Amino acid sequence: MPLTRRDFAKLGTLSLAAVFAPVLNAQSPTGLSSAIQNAASAPAAAASSGGRKTGYAVIGLGRIAGHFIQGANNTSNSKISALVSGHRDKAERIAASCGVPSSSIYSYENFDEIVHNPAVDAVYVALPNSMHAEYTIRAARAGKHVLCEKPMSVTVAEAEAMIAACKAANVKLMIAYRCHYEPTNLRAVQLIRDGAIGQVQAIESAFGYDIAPGEWRLNKKLAGGGPLFDVGIYSLNACRYLTGEEPQHFSAFVSTIDHDGRFNEVEESLSWTIKFPSGIVAACNTTYGGSMNGFFRVHGSKGWIEAAPAFNYDGLRLTAQFSNTLLDEPNPARDPSQFQAQADHLSNCIQNGLEPKSPGEEGLRDMRYISEIYRSAGISI
Ligand code: NAD
Repeated sequence: MPLTRRDFAKLGTLSLAAVFAPVLNAQSPTGLSSAIQNAASAPAAAASSGGRKTGYAVIGLGRIAGHFIQGANNTSNSKISALVSGHRDKAERIAASCGVPSSSIYSYENFDEIVHNPAVDAVYVALPNSMHAEYTIRAARAGKHVLCEKPMSVTVAEAEAMIAACKAANVKLMIAYRCHYEPTNLRAVQLIRDGAIGQVQAIESAFGYDIAPGEWRLNKKLAGGGPLFDVGIYSLNACRYLTGEEPQHFSAFVSTIDHDGRFNEVEESLSWTIKFPSGIVAACNTTYGGSMNGFFRVHGSKGWIEAAPAFNYDGLRLTAQFSNTLLDEPNPARDPSQFQAQADHLSNCIQNGLEPKSPGEEGLRDMRYISEIYRSAGISI
């Protein structure tokens, strides 16, 4: 039965566990689903927040950190309590604007002293990709929970080490997959699980943009690879949560047309297909060479669902056609609501001994798939 608009309004408050349960319960080729379920019962050793707001130290004060700082400050259960930066002046300015004392500003060198700061419960890692592993592991060793940006790491081995370090320290590790907490994406998943479009047959998805020269994302050592690590990962992850299945086979091509010398180290475009165990097929594209609005379109035996844009910070829109129903649902939420939802979720997990819905194991799966996609394209990472 199609969901009504009233149901849609309720979706924003639905637990992600219910909507994404088929993904978490799916039998993955890695056998990680049981690890996720087992982890749900492990309480964190870090001090319980005891009713106060969960304090975050933000590492890397770049673009995404700005969205997160605003989002966390909009919650009722989270606050920014420390900053970590190589630029003291910038950190002092941001600290003054969000009530962080100067004594809680750290550099990359003295970051480990955060162990002595009881105002810091968790660390938000918003650094270039290849730095995620080091700072997640250092944060865990300091007894702090971790919210790590996507992609989780640049190699599978690093992702495994991050999970192991957080488990050893008995702290939570959540990967910042903001679409897992976003109502338009949740609405699409719910419609599919409810059978609105029948048996899913095929998915198309893309996400890309025209990258500026000089970005660290063009440096392979810092980025790990090209646009798949950065934005293609949204399409890859969406195919998994939309189907509730884990990929079985990949085929892929990379391509660099490069008319201005930006792509000496990473590829410009990547195109891949996925076959899922049920027979669902997906075709995805990502690029750094031109604007590619992030979207997904799911074709089923009884209709289709499209989210376009699907992955932006706001302005998302869902359209669908199935049975006698035509849907057109613009999402009125505005940035930084997705970052607010993420902070709210992890803080709630910390305060109530729950396991995040996008744990390290979820990031590790994508790292394994990214590695398989590159292998299929003839590139080793
Ligand atoms: P950015 O370039 O705006 O910020 C990176 C920060 O890291 C800067 O403050 C910079 O000073 C610091 N830094 C420390 N060492 C550095 C080094 N060696 N080289 C370059 N910068 C260094 O980057 P961003 O767009 O904020 O991305 C940061 C992370 O967040 C990336 O992993 C990215 O994939 C992720 N991200 C996530 C989203 C999302 O929607 N979840 C959006 C954008 C970026």
